[in-house]
Amino acid sequence: MKALVLEAYNKLVYKDVNKPAPDDHEVLVEVKAAGICGSDVHGMDGSTGRRIPPVIMGHEASGVISETGRSVTDWQVGDRVTFDSTIYRLDDWYTRSGHYNLSDNRMVLGVSCKEFRRDGAFAQYVSIPEHILYKVPGNVSFEQAAMVEPVAVALHAINLSGVRINDHVVVFGSGMIGLFLVQLLKSTGCHVTAIDIVEEKLVMARNAGAETCLHAGRDEVATRIKEITGGRGADLVFEAVGMAGTLKTAVDCIRKGATLVMVGNLTPVVDFPLQKVVTQEITVRGSCAINGEYPAVLELLSKGQIHVDSMISAVAPLSEGARFFDRLRNKEPGLLKVILKP
Ligand SMILES: [Zn+2]
Repeated sequence: MKALVLEAYNKLVYKDVNKPAPDDHEVLVEVKAAGICGSDVHGMDGSTGRRIPPVIMGHEASGVISETGRSVTDWQVGDRVTFDSTIYRLDDWYTRSGHYNLSDNRMVLGVSCKEFRRDGAFAQYVSIPEHILYKVPGNVSFEQAAMVEPVAVALHAINLSGVRINDHVVVFGSGMIGLFLVQLLKSTGCHVTAIDIVEEKLVMARNAGAETCLHAGRDEVATRIKEITGGRGADLVFEAVGMAGTLKTAVDCIRKGATLVMVGNLTPVVDFPLQKVVTQEITVRGSCAINGEYPAVLELLSKGQIHVDSMISAVAPLSEGARFFDRLRNKEPGLLKVILKP
């Protein structure tokens, strides 16, 4: 089969590789659409340690089952499917207690690091454990289904946040996750302010439903949030960047007793405003990946209650993948999500 292989750091090659053979409890999915994630673009130069070559990346995808393992009974050849990006164990303590996203020895599709290596979906076929599959409704396209993963990441963070109707919520970072946070938060009936340093992303945040959009380089973010909230500060803040500067501003604009949900994790270690968090009883909450949000996202998509089409900037053949990775690394204006089709 053809695959887009990361052969060395920053070297993507479209080439023939062996077609994977599914284990007893796996299916072989013929990939129809696979989205390029920011973590693929950031990781392919070796900076995150999570794309050690050689590896086939790609963890946001959809397709059709073309083969089933011997023990698979609930899935048939021809089923239209998408799948979780986390491959978790079913016999794990965390999975059994309802937190499969935290399970020990979990793997992520299309990631290779010190602990594991698992080929992903930038290929004609990918082999997927049956317990992470989800059926795609008939009126949801393969391209839309490849967007379920990032929407589910945003929904997971919201599900952990305790958001309430009429809350003033601030979302730092208007990338893919930030924009889906804005869109989903609007459906909860709260007031959303979006923050970014790129003008066109703020326009997208406005289109996604943000009432207020602030430019972190030009606007006095914390002062403006205080103005909007009667001097109190935000009831809830999502940090979808993961850097020291945004974390500091996030804590500056939150009210006493409120919750800060950390979704972005660009930087491994940051300075932390310890005294303010302690003396103002701020709850700091990490949110990692997805824990059962796929069915909800697929239903919202099918019912037209969440929109992903405007986020897809380009659909291209997998053979042109390397070129699109270059364009994304160069931060080409207007290029947000690229979907590759084998
Ligand atoms: Zn991703």
